[in-house]
Amino acid sequence: MTLKKQMLEHHDLLSGLVRLHVLHHASEQEIYGQWMINELAEHGYSLSPGTLYPMLHAMERKGYLVSRTEKDGRIMRKYYLATAKGREGLALAKARLREFIGEAMDHDASREEQK
Ligand SMILES: [Zn+2]
Repeated sequence: MTLKKQMLEHHDLLSGLVRLHVLHHASEQEIYGQWMINELAEHGYSLSPGTLYPMLHAMERKGYLVSRTEKDGRIMRKYYLATAKGREGLALAKARLREFIGEAMDHDASREEQK
């Protein structure tokens, strides 16, 4: 199975990580959909606009992002920025992620030693 197919199959498991990735960038600078799709692609995530845009809309509805619309040439572009709630959620998730990585990676390392 290709990585792309695998990621699609396990989309539900990975979607939280994608949201955190979005929040990470949106807390540093304004982002827009296509930029985020390209950025995620560099990290091995292949998301279509049909997946990412509803995700951005849902995150805005939940108060993690705010958007503004600006005309860029002939197209209207929607820019997103993390809210205080978004930055708080990101910080919380990063701490939990660090803790999880410690546990999960230590576990892998000790299994390696037993071999
Ligand atoms: Zn990134």
